[in-house]
Amino acid sequence: MSFQAPIGTRDIFAPESKTIGALIAKFASLVELAGFDLLISPLFEDYEVFARSAGQASEVVSKEMYVFSDRGGREMALRPEGTASVVRAFIQHQNPTPFKAWYATPAFRYEKPQAGRYRQHHQLGLEVIGSASPSCDIEIIELATSFLKSIGISNFTLLVNSMGDENCRPLYREALLDYLGSKKTELCQDHQDRFKLNPLRVLDCKKPECTSVTKDAPMIDAMLCQECSSHHQEVLKGLSLLAIDFISAPRLVRGFDYYTRTTFEIQSNSLDSSQNAIGGGGRYDKLVEKLGGKSETPGIGFGMGLERLVLVLEANGIEIAPKQSPDVYLVDLSSNLNSPVLAGLLRRCGISVDYSYEKGSMKSQMRHANKSGATLAIIFGQRELERGLYKIKDLATGEESEVPLTAIEEAILEKLSKIG
Ligand SMILES: [Zn+2]
Ligand SMILES: [Zn+2]
Repeated sequence: MSFQAPIGTRDIFAPESKTIGALIAKFASLVELAGFDLLISPLFEDYEVFARSAGQASEVVSKEMYVFSDRGGREMALRPEGTASVVRAFIQHQNPTPFKAWYATPAFRYEKPQAGRYRQHHQLGLEVIGSASPSCDIEIIELATSFLKSIGISNFTLLVNSMGDENCRPLYREALLDYLGSKKTELCQDHQDRFKLNPLRVLDCKKPECTSVTKDAPMIDAMLCQECSSHHQEVLKGLSLLAIDFISAPRLVRGFDYYTRTTFEIQSNSLDSSQNAIGGGGRYDKLVEKLGGKSETPGIGFGMGLERLVLVLEANGIEIAPKQSPDVYLVDLSSNLNSPVLAGLLRRCGISVDYSYEKGSMKSQMRHANKSGATLAIIFGQRELERGLYKIKDLATGEESEVPLTAIEEAILEKLSKIG
């Protein structure tokens, strides 16, 4: 029998794996400038951690989460997103605030496999826990957009909304329920039955029946309380001062129940509109309390899909981790194992080196050298080793010189600097 990766998952090879590695490295260096540290937490948690954070009624929990009993009979779930584990870890270890963490993680959803959607995908994200200040919201959105610009992505749209809080959202929810109730028969089939469960989700529905009904629905921006409204205005002011373009999007309700006040989403203008969200996030001022932490511990964060970022880079022809050819290729015609030793010594000096494990003829080794795209070849046989001289050949010009072993590193670095 032959095994295959499970349905809806895939093996990621270079060059995509290299791009993903580079994205994570760039993200790390950017957010570490802002004081965020890497947090590595388990890929699975007690089922309740995700069920309570995302909400029992959410699509993620009710339909998409990987849930299983372990051998001890505990009900566990694979991480469907990054935030809940960070919050659980923060509460468990009583970290001082503000607590700032970033992560890069696989996330799991039992979705119908289709183009661009995987049962295991990968996310980058960060969280700030312990401050309600609009400064955090501004900082987070600034980091998200700066990250995209730092990898050459600038054609995106930032949507910003406030979801209100426990004072004003219930009133808005009532107003929306009344409105949707009066238009019930015009909603899409699914929402005719389900709109009462979570009326805000109807704003998100892509079916034409629902989008047409919600065109005239009451919008949250008109119903924010004084505190939420001034928080929102501060955030928008900060974005303007940083010259970050945004669109106010009162319909923007993201998939998790835990959001309060600021929510945002970044959409790529170079992807198909059904799958153009490359990242987003928002405030979750009640989530710490919901997961058993101290009340009045606000938080905010965002996540981005690494697979989506790769698609956007490809659509824009941007290569952030181009294939690198070796500096040097060893053509070893001697009878001993000189190549791994010489390669090791040169690599210790930061020179990239390749060679054939199976030594062939001069002709076949030279063919490999040319195919590798190396800048220089070092050619040596028994005679050269006895004389202590190595031949260095510039593979582009064919120019050759002989260099003693003791001077080889210097000679190579000099040649590479002239060429490079
Ligand atoms: Zn609908
Ligand atoms: Zn409010």
